[in-house]
Amino acid sequence: MTSFTYAANPVRVVFGRGTLGTLGDEARRLGLRRVLLVGSPRYADRAAEVLGPLLAARFEDAAMHTPVDVTERALKVVAEYDVDGVVAIGGGSATGLAKAIALHTDLPQLIVPTTYAGSELTEVLGQTADGRKTTQKNPKVRPETVVYDVDLTLGLPVPLSAASGLNALAHAVEARYAPDANPMTDLLAAEAAKLLTSALPRIAKDPSDVDARTDALRGAWLAGTCLDAVSMGLHHQLCHLLGGKFGLPHAETHAVLLPYVMAHKGLEDAGEIFELAASLPIPHSLAELGLTEADIADEPEAGLLREAVNGTRPASPPSLKALTKQVVDSFAG
Ligand code: NAD
Repeated sequence: MTSFTYAANPVRVVFGRGTLGTLGDEARRLGLRRVLLVGSPRYADRAAEVLGPLLAARFEDAAMHTPVDVTERALKVVAEYDVDGVVAIGGGSATGLAKAIALHTDLPQLIVPTTYAGSELTEVLGQTADGRKTTQKNPKVRPETVVYDVDLTLGLPVPLSAASGLNALAHAVEARYAPDANPMTDLLAAEAAKLLTSALPRIAKDPSDVDARTDALRGAWLAGTCLDAVSMGLHHQLCHLLGGKFGLPHAETHAVLLPYVMAHKGLEDAGEIFELAASLPIPHSLAELGLTEADIADEPEAGLLREAVNGTRPASPPSLKALTKQVVDSFAG
């Protein structure tokens, strides 16, 4: 790589344990006085307590893939309560609704992610209307502040943690071969992959392992920064296509497809990601998500998808570890 372009996008990140307690201060820092709180009661009740007098209204109906009719209802609440900012607490669905509100109003957003999706760091918004998903990029939807609180992820069930963690890993993997990759995203992607691949098996063993949860959330942040900074490739295109067309669940689709795409890209660590995915309690084929071979027959990359439907592991190049072992063995022999 001899030439590149890099821009650090403006987002304030607060990371730690118990950082939910800073929500009021962070909202005031953005100049907010009348906040709309988006998120299900699981965490939004605690967020409401911390926000105290800054809270103007609540909205609990965020849904996956940001349906526009839900956004329209939320916008009515924004107008009715004369809201001056949005706080979203939850997964990518809650974040998506905050971003959709910002698209229409340009209100500041403060996001508290409880999964590893990474949407909180991007200026990308996917929305669905009449069963069709469209995606757009707009600086208005980029959140101003992100508060990562490791404690909020301790209760994320293992299957969701694993699928969401592989969703995050996919951002880091695709950053490696992105045409606009640069030395900064190379560093971010490598560190994100190291943290996520080490954390997920530890979380599967003990979901309340704070060190593992900290690594996973840090990895998700770094991977989300890659998602924002460089173009995503084949893997994200396929997930978007299948997710939109067949209504597949977001994180699980990423989790199933990632090792197959890595194998087809000839990435030397594809085998390790197959092993990692196989060890986690997630779906391992698109058939488990309800797809059949007939569904994907006319799709681009039908060969790759057929393997992913059937869960047939493709012949991939041997991993670096396996190659090293072969070399060592050949000397020993
Ligand atoms: P999600 O937000 O729908 O959450 C999945 C499930 O997990 C939900 O039932 C939710 O209530 C539950 N949940 C969330 N946090 C929890 C916790 N800590 N404990 C227990 N349960 C919890 O799913 P997601 O995978 O986080 O996000 C997917 C959505 O985000 C999709 O709509 C996707 O398109 C979008 N997304 C957008 C971008 C972007 O840059 N625009 C990036 C990634 C994802």
